[in-house]
Amino acid sequence: MTTILQAAALLMLAVAALYALWRIRWGYPDRSIPGVLTYHKVVDFEFGGTWISPARFERHIASLIDSGYRFIDERAFLETIEGSRPAGEKEILLTFDDGYDCIATSAAPVLERMGVPALVFLVSGFVGEENSWELGLPGRKARHMDWDTVRALHTRGFSFGSHCESHLPLTRMTREEALSEMVRSREEIERHMGAEVLSLSYPFGRSDPQVASLAEEAGYRAAFTLYPPGGVEGWDRYRLRREGVWVIDTPATIRIKLSSGGLFWLEDLKGRMINAVADLTPFLKSR
Ligand SMILES: [Zn+2]
Repeated sequence: MTTILQAAALLMLAVAALYALWRIRWGYPDRSIPGVLTYHKVVDFEFGGTWISPARFERHIASLIDSGYRFIDERAFLETIEGSRPAGEKEILLTFDDGYDCIATSAAPVLERMGVPALVFLVSGFVGEENSWELGLPGRKARHMDWDTVRALHTRGFSFGSHCESHLPLTRMTREEALSEMVRSREEIERHMGAEVLSLSYPFGRSDPQVASLAEEAGYRAAFTLYPPGGVEGWDRYRLRREGVWVIDTPATIRIKLSSGGLFWLEDLKGRMINAVADLTPFLKSR
């Protein structure tokens, strides 16, 4: 009995210490602006943590709507953070990174049926090509949607942003290389889509103060990270926080991610750990 009590006390102490470290290092996000969700692939099965099945994706969206969340589009989100539109209750922006073809075939039909807008971030150098940086199933590489698909989805109301040209981490580039990635990808997408590109998503969510200032210089109205570094008070228009949704997530864990209290800290730690592993893939691939 004493051993069980001792073990329980030790466990509680460990959790309290972990919470204290998290609180000092990161802390709760500012929820005065709408929350942002990030998905990658909507497919039946895939290797790794960045996918979800079409049926589960539909359950996530339906459950959030049932819980009173309202999905807003990119323009409404930008107007809110720029101050020309008041933030509503429980508003969310839905985003997809990488622009995989499965978003057009499996996610878009669900979203259109439910009247949910979304913002898709394209890697301009990979449009219509096979993916090269993810550790996928052997012999099966994910394909990125092509320009015809981008134009068709844009006509149907989907928004497109830039996820740069090569999907390499901007934080490891020179100032000139990083700026060129951001400008060239924006121009390329605008040329093919025939409309303005307003938002940027950093590859692997990686940014630093220099990269963030270059995003503004490159002509974007906003730029998204995934998990911003700690010590940032409030929010920054060029380092916007997003909540990554991973293969193990459920409607309940997504509601926790969108909150700013309770078990949020555990979800935040989980997301940071999964994102750190995803961050390792270019390194593993170069072995
Ligand atoms: Zn990406």
